[in-house]
Amino acid sequence: MGFAKLRYLTGLSALALTMASCETIPTNNNTINNNQAATKNNKHQSDKWSYIGESGPNYWGGLRPEYSQCDAGDQQSPINITNTIATDLSAPLINWSPFVPTISNNGHTIEVKPSAGNTVILDGKSFELVQIHFHHTSEHTIDDQQYPMEVHFVHSAGDGKLAVLAVLLAEGHANQALTEIWSAAPAVIGEITANFTLDPNQLLPVDRQHYRYQGSLTTPPCSQIVSWLVFKQKLTISAKQIAAFSTVFGENVRPVQNTNRRYITSSK
Ligand SMILES: [Zn+2]
Repeated sequence: MGFAKLRYLTGLSALALTMASCETIPTNNNTINNNQAATKNNKHQSDKWSYIGESGPNYWGGLRPEYSQCDAGDQQSPINITNTIATDLSAPLINWSPFVPTISNNGHTIEVKPSAGNTVILDGKSFELVQIHFHHTSEHTIDDQQYPMEVHFVHSAGDGKLAVLAVLLAEGHANQALTEIWSAAPAVIGEITANFTLDPNQLLPVDRQHYRYQGSLTTPPCSQIVSWLVFKQKLTISAKQIAAFSTVFGENVRPVQNTNRRYITSSK
């Protein structure tokens, strides 16, 4: 048992330990890959908003004054990507290196934190990768088509603006990077330092063709500070990997929002 796991186990609830002791596999049963105790129990523990019921997406804007943009904003995300405008978009200059991640379950999703220095340059502006997280099902749809999962690579610039690179995952072969992340991700709210090196480029399509539009965070406070870049090429995820995530988080998806007067550009 590695240090990271030992450290995490000390934070487990009594219930989780009880349930874990019932597992037939003696190790690693505290991750989202192999759990019975955590199923959807941790949804309401981290803060007030959620994806279901009266704290769900339709109510976010009224939960707190600082969430008002969720209702009032006219550049909200996600959206259905359709009626795009073919444009000569420059490819994002992505400069990511492998790192030992910190992996947390924040009650809403699995969040992967990188070391410093991973950047993307969009139209000459540099943004730094601050975290990677996951949604089931996809938040963006392409011509009304939804996909089983979506990865968000959140990048921040010095001026507070964000660039989020989104990758849609279709069901197919397992993704090796996700196998590693899922095997370490806590099944209940908590954080671990991984005992492996993650290459985030494994979660990136080779083809850099993409869509772009201006939008918001897809979770409260729904701030309209995001340049979205959604890759056209999909990667795959296995049915088993999807199930491991959805067993813990259910559907952590905000419905698509009105496009209003925004342009959605598409690289030629
Ligand atoms: Zn997201």
